[in-house]
Amino acid sequence: MQITSAALPLDKNAPPVYAITFDWLLFLRLHNYINPLSTSLSSSPYFYCGHFFDSGVEMSLRTAVYRLSTPFRSVLQYCTTNTKRPYAAVSQALSVLENELDSIRAAGTWKGERVITSKQGPHINVDCSKGDILNFCANNYLGLSSHPEVVQAGIDALQKYGAGLSSVRFICGTQSLHKTLEEKLAQFHEREDCILYASCFDANAGLFEVLLGPDDAVLSDELNHASIIDGIRLCRAKRFRYKHMDLNDLEEKLKESRSSRLRLVVTDGVFSMDGDVAPLQGICDLAEQYGALVFIDECHATGFMGPRGRGTDELLGVMNRVHIVNSTLGKALGGAAGGYTVGPKALIDLLRQRSRPYLFSNSLPPPVVGCATRAVELLLASNEIAQSMAAKTMRFRNNMTQAGFTISGTAHPICPVMLGDARLASFMADDMLKLGVYVIGFSYPVVPKGKARIRVQISAAHTDDDIDRTVDAFIQTGRKHGVIS
Ligand code: PLP
Repeated sequence: MQITSAALPLDKNAPPVYAITFDWLLFLRLHNYINPLSTSLSSSPYFYCGHFFDSGVEMSLRTAVYRLSTPFRSVLQYCTTNTKRPYAAVSQALSVLENELDSIRAAGTWKGERVITSKQGPHINVDCSKGDILNFCANNYLGLSSHPEVVQAGIDALQKYGAGLSSVRFICGTQSLHKTLEEKLAQFHEREDCILYASCFDANAGLFEVLLGPDDAVLSDELNHASIIDGIRLCRAKRFRYKHMDLNDLEEKLKESRSSRLRLVVTDGVFSMDGDVAPLQGICDLAEQYGALVFIDECHATGFMGPRGRGTDELLGVMNRVHIVNSTLGKALGGAAGGYTVGPKALIDLLRQRSRPYLFSNSLPPPVVGCATRAVELLLASNEIAQSMAAKTMRFRNNMTQAGFTISGTAHPICPVMLGDARLASFMADDMLKLGVYVIGFSYPVVPKGKARIRVQISAAHTDDDIDRTVDAFIQTGRKHGVIS
């Protein structure tokens, strides 16, 4: 519209031609009747129009276009050069991308995606694999992803509250079920208040920027999850990275950051790649000694770590010494999606006012909230499921170690079978699938170079027989690839 009206005053006798012709050109351009990649470029006066057209249309329009005034043609020239430029840029970008993709393939770190054709659970169906497959790579720690009561709660919420809110929380996206889930999560973690996000990635992206400014400092374990690293990048606090789980180094960094206003020690409760548990007692001791706050990401702990499954802080007896907890609804708590922060009410109030992923992203859909709420209710009512994890985890870890494999971490249902080489991890995972066990090889950049592994995850829903069959399959493939003798 802008361009057409700019052209109109230049020839008052012919405005309809200008408008119609220009609309035609736009129409043809938009509907791909014009070939923007035509190579038969011409230097004739029709250059900016004629060469674009299929020959049938070309002649009839040429005459009209030729009569256009010079300003109009320069407008057209502007349009055509600006439609051509992106194509050169796109082909250049594509070749950059292809090179990058080739280098990933060459390094053996390509991450394919297998397609599951059944519900999530300990036994699944996988596209291109026959029959029942044992699933040992989901974060479905408590087997609640397909628990009948959890699924039914999602159906009920869908029917009562609809598919979604078409809105963010502060506009018209808060339903009573969001408030109920926030209350239950605060109760579960024994913290003052809770705020829901679309994911824990968002919760981590939204927290640090709100809490910490340029006068503050954040002290972060070097192996913290990517979402924590990204969240910290967004805040303006001074950054200190301490060596993985190294209390001496943390203390050094606490001394270095002494002049800061607020200091926040940030750690995963459980590190997802190794299944190792943060030394929270030592961290809390140091934090108290140096006047710092403590934050933990409990994605791989909520629901099953500790006597009542409340998390690493419960396991290590520091629930009242850890100030802020972020966690996910996408793993043990039903496995749908969503994340949250629990902590002091003043912090949660401020996050509702300022946290960008909360303010500028849609509310969690009611079925997702319904499923998570039922999962939390089940855990509040009984710690039985949480407790069943430990024995199963030890059965796998002990049998694999006896067979000669190296399993990283201690006592956590994340059991990384360490292999070192990325290709080996990938080939072994493929062979495991042929034996009916679905596991995944992890390689750089998800884990450091040279530390490729198959990450096995135990679920409360696995039976002892499932675990024994998986160990047997590992022994068979491990021998084939020379990992064990
Ligand atoms: N934090 C940790 C430690 C995680 O492992 C993950 C997920 O893999 C996240 C955060 C992100 O959680 P979500 O899937 O809810 O975004």
